[in-house]
Amino acid sequence: MRERLMMAEKIIELDGSQGEGGGQVLRTALTLSMITGQPVRLTDIRANRPKPGLMRQHLVAVQAAAQVCGADIGDTGLGARELLFRPGAIRAGNYSFAIGTAGSSTLVLQTLLPALLFADGPSTVTVSGGTHNPMAPPAEFLQRAYGRAMRDMGATIDITLRRRGFYPAGGGVVEATVQACAGLRPLALLEAGARRNVFAESLVAAVPPGVARRELDFVGAAMGWDASRLHLVQLPDDQGPGNALLLTLESEHVTEVFAAFGEKSLRAESLAKQVVQDARTYMMSGAAVSEHLADQLMVPMALAGGGKFTVDRVSQHAITNADVIARFLPVDIRFETGAGRASCTIATR
Ligand code: ATP
Repeated sequence: MRERLMMAEKIIELDGSQGEGGGQVLRTALTLSMITGQPVRLTDIRANRPKPGLMRQHLVAVQAAAQVCGADIGDTGLGARELLFRPGAIRAGNYSFAIGTAGSSTLVLQTLLPALLFADGPSTVTVSGGTHNPMAPPAEFLQRAYGRAMRDMGATIDITLRRRGFYPAGGGVVEATVQACAGLRPLALLEAGARRNVFAESLVAAVPPGVARRELDFVGAAMGWDASRLHLVQLPDDQGPGNALLLTLESEHVTEVFAAFGEKSLRAESLAKQVVQDARTYMMSGAAVSEHLADQLMVPMALAGGGKFTVDRVSQHAITNADVIARFLPVDIRFETGAGRASCTIATR
């Protein structure tokens, strides 16, 4: 696969301030550099964020990617705004990475998992850090939404959540096992299909269970879901403090997970309203996938040589991701906006 994707070696120059100018430019570049063997030089990393450069989560993603493919990253450290990444062959193995803060462990996995599909054997990767962070996929999203779509593209990835880690304490652990595969299959997700199961979970650790009850009551009333669909998950106090509300919509062709995370100043009802709104926007759009899954399907679909999905909203994030992908792979990624929903088509150039 790698040989098939490998192009003549030239350093790809990427401006980290382009488009969204956040961490996704870095993660997508690392993943595709590993898989295609093309070296990449990133400048102005995360230029559009309040604290630009590599934060812990991003630095661990760089170090992990370097370890998996034997890249030399010199003395790249926290806050670095430039990186030259020159990958070697992707090596299967048992890897373990510690973020050391509540930085998102799922975003480190997002960087590594597609690459490990193209390794020389099966791998396990354990990442410790945050598992339920604002602005990142909760572990259940990787398991249910991303994991299912990846399976449908022919990947075998099992994700186990060993321990939850919330911001700011961290301490969570996620483990993934990945089987190497000959290649990914194109996937078309045009409709979600019939709804098969829907449920809400409110996780609380060292947060009063009454907070979770109020969130679930709000969801139950707003979505018309009875008590059998509302789950209060009380975790040991030492996993907190933390609170996450997850809404899972399992449909015939796709599973979506919507999430929001408790904050001191945020009322339980306001948090629940936010998640309900996201889920409703998705349901009313008639699209197969929502904003975040859309983001995360683009790399594997491009690796498969094609794919298509309908989406409730095209974010700046997705457009930036498409631009980065097209620098590494010979694909065209086209977005079309229609009535209430959009579509994305990925095709080999
Ligand atoms: P930065 O601090 O630079 O913004 P970041 O590394 O956190 O960096 P983003 O560029 O914002 O990265 O990317 C966040 C990633 O997390 C994207 O892949 C996005 O789809 C995903 N994501 C964010 N929120 C959710 C959510 N609620 N559910 C699933 N995925 C999410």
